Amino acid sequence: MASDTPKRTTTDAGIPVASGEYSLTVGPNGPIVLHDHYLIEQMANFNRERIPERQPHAKGSGAFGHFEVTDDISRYTRAAVFQPGTKTDVLARFSTVAGERGSPDTWRDPRGFALKFYTSEGNYDMVGNNTPVFFIRDPLKFQQFIRSQKRRADNNLRDHDMQWDFWTLSPESAHQVAWLMGDRGIPKSWRHMNGYSSHTYMWVNKDGEKFWVKYHFKTDQGIECFTQDDADQMAGMDADYHTRDLFNAIKDGNAPSWTLYVQVMPFKDAETYRFNPFDLTKVWPHGDYPLIKVGKLTLNRNPTDNHTEIEQAAFEPNNLVPGIGISPDKMLVARVFSYADAHRARLGVNYKQIPVNTPQAPVHSYSKDGAMRMNKVSDPVYWPNSKGGPQPDPNVKDDSTWHAEGEILRSAYQRHAEDDDFVQANALVNKAMDDAARERLVNNVVGHLKDGVTEPVLKRVFEYWRKIDANIGDRIEKAFRES
Ligand code: NDP
Repeated sequence: MASDTPKRTTTDAGIPVASGEYSLTVGPNGPIVLHDHYLIEQMANFNRERIPERQPHAKGSGAFGHFEVTDDISRYTRAAVFQPGTKTDVLARFSTVAGERGSPDTWRDPRGFALKFYTSEGNYDMVGNNTPVFFIRDPLKFQQFIRSQKRRADNNLRDHDMQWDFWTLSPESAHQVAWLMGDRGIPKSWRHMNGYSSHTYMWVNKDGEKFWVKYHFKTDQGIECFTQDDADQMAGMDADYHTRDLFNAIKDGNAPSWTLYVQVMPFKDAETYRFNPFDLTKVWPHGDYPLIKVGKLTLNRNPTDNHTEIEQAAFEPNNLVPGIGISPDKMLVARVFSYADAHRARLGVNYKQIPVNTPQAPVHSYSKDGAMRMNKVSDPVYWPNSKGGPQPDPNVKDDSTWHAEGEILRSAYQRHAEDDDFVQANALVNKAMDDAARERLVNNVVGHLKDGVTEPVLKRVFEYWRKIDANIGDRIEKAFRES
């Protein structure tokens, strides 16, 4: 911040610094001495500035703001954050998935849409995407999927052959691939895209009644997308275009906002619904479960230090508050473990004490010690104790649960009547897209295939698209062969 009298430079220990220009030497031309502790501190700190990037979602940017509940949905959840009129501070981070920290913002890729609500009942995180579905439905394939989207072993290049190889051998990817190859596969900016929970969550009201919910954050700026050509050009002109756009919009007082809607499914419906409602490759058609308005998310404050506030932000779907729980979605269950584990690996065990991750609600846990602990631990350090330590509150109901039984086995989900890997991809292509969008879809796929996809993968790609829609599959093969 500008000031008439600049602050005096110090070392990290607060010791005044005499020069930022000259190292301490033996005579003007002499060797540098080892006890120049300011020089050593600067060099050592610099060598350690980079921390491991996220794997995946490495490239991103974010901002602060608030979420305000505008409608009354208290009949579905007792979570304090969603009670009428409640206003909660929020951190949002948007990202691409496969690219590294310096990669272009405008590569075709899903976008992360991660939110941290600093609620009165502790932090609540919603770690979503700009797509309502995902490529796979079992977490055992996630690591393999991400590897197929990143880089080869030999030449260290991304490889479309590898991507389509994985996708065509994983038919459950069809819905998300159809989405990705369509217009929304490259949003014009973070501000011009929706965010979806993608997963199904559980809500519980004050009477203990349970519901299944999906979140839809609809952009108030309107959906806008880049064509492949525009995106390719932008990647060369400004690799950080989305990062810049968000920062400048907020700086200029043009705060972006999203309206939150939810789809709510009565608890019992899940057993008999025509699709498996927990399958992450499926949406719940709006006609079956219409959108219900909840409130508005507004982002109006930029970070002042990207590293401490965005790079070190740790979003984790296990951060759930009373009245909100997970569902039997296997991907979500695995993420509840893997996100916190990733943060421990990347930021250290005490990452929740980094200010951006610290709840506004008071913390009275029995976690103790570990690297980089900031908060002091006080006795007693164990529970149960008769020494006045924090006590669990029996009035807090741990009731976001469901009944499960069966043999322990490795299996696909039990089938629901209309479960099918291609039917919703077909609905996307034929119901959501118009002729012009379908034409762009065909061109996007052909362009993608032209970039290194070879037999036998190619043959499977045309079959895969014919299963989504026979006509689109034929058009893709024809356009590819003729190009
Ligand atoms: P609807 O006609 O009610 O919904 C279609 C939705 O598709 C729109 O509301 C819009 O979602 C979204 N959409 C529009 N254009 C595109 C595009 N080019 N790429 C991706 N999405 C687009 O039909 P259904 O609910 O029966 O869904 C039909 C298909 O629409 C689904 O199979 C799914 O692929 C897609 N879809 C469905 C959503 C859902 O939750 N039901 C959400 C998003 C897409 P939005 O309003 O969220 O922008």
